[in-house]
Amino acid sequence: MNNLLLSRCRDVERQAACLQTEQPCVPVSQHDPSSMWFIRDACGIVCGVITWMLVFYAEFVVLFVMLLPSKNLTYSLVNGTVFNTLAFLALASHFRAMCTDPGAVPTGNATKEYIESLQLKPGQVVYKCPKCCSIKPDRAHHCSVCKRCIRKMDHHCPWVNNCVGENNQKYFVLFTMYIALISLHSLVMVVFHFLYCFEDDWTKCSSFSPPATVILLILLCFEALLFLIFTSVMFGTQVHSICTDETGIERLKGEQARWEKTSCWEAMKSAFGGPFSPSWLSPFSDLRCKRDPTDHVVLPQGEIIEDDVIEIPLV
Ligand SMILES: [Zn+2]
Ligand SMILES: [Zn+2]
Repeated sequence: MNNLLLSRCRDVERQAACLQTEQPCVPVSQHDPSSMWFIRDACGIVCGVITWMLVFYAEFVVLFVMLLPSKNLTYSLVNGTVFNTLAFLALASHFRAMCTDPGAVPTGNATKEYIESLQLKPGQVVYKCPKCCSIKPDRAHHCSVCKRCIRKMDHHCPWVNNCVGENNQKYFVLFTMYIALISLHSLVMVVFHFLYCFEDDWTKCSSFSPPATVILLILLCFEALLFLIFTSVMFGTQVHSICTDETGIERLKGEQARWEKTSCWEAMKSAFGGPFSPSWLSPFSDLRCKRDPTDHVVLPQGEIIEDDVIEIPLV
């Protein structure tokens, strides 16, 4: 039903639109590539801080409740190294996902001069976003939180306080993967620690009192289980989106693919920025094949169209 309404809305606008839209465009304001991308959204900032606090809580319990009091030095060293490395990579991926421009389209470029400079042939179509007054490339969508059109926008994620788009999807996928891994690792350690404490005297298995130890371990258990499920599902959904070359929004809208779909492997290489290498797992490596943010797709027939703007649910 929604899809029908949306396509009807688009059709009506298609008929009503003309090359010169009446809505005046604001002056061009573009994200300066040298400055850091950061969305000033109170809800997103709070969620981002909570994410870091939860990782630090897990760090605290793993180190001070389970590993440091352990008498087995090898067990503590191996698990401590693995857990801290994964937690560091998770936080680095979160930072990159949050502070990387997800593929914002320059705002305010749907001006008379710019449209004329495109030298459109009579009957050609470009889409215009009425909210940020930009010429939208194909597969870009407007985000009401970022207040920008984002190329290949998948969804706006408050946990990383940013949109997930073509330039930061890799970091988001890595973030979900590393969080799922530290959740699984800490769950296994909690189970082993409980067994160890049951066998040993409870007063010797932790430097905290037995009730405090139990509460800290149970809280970590809940946290790890919750985030293991949540991030595993997100990781699977994201990899599926990349493989099928269909973003979350396109799936939600039931859009027919106007674009030429690439193979799963080619789509993975495009999302992760190059041929398969260990850099796919690194949140520090940049994407090697970024697209020109000013390019746009001109469709074969039509005119300039005020596109429909869809509010995307927060995921
Ligand atoms: Zn827009
Ligand atoms: Zn957004």
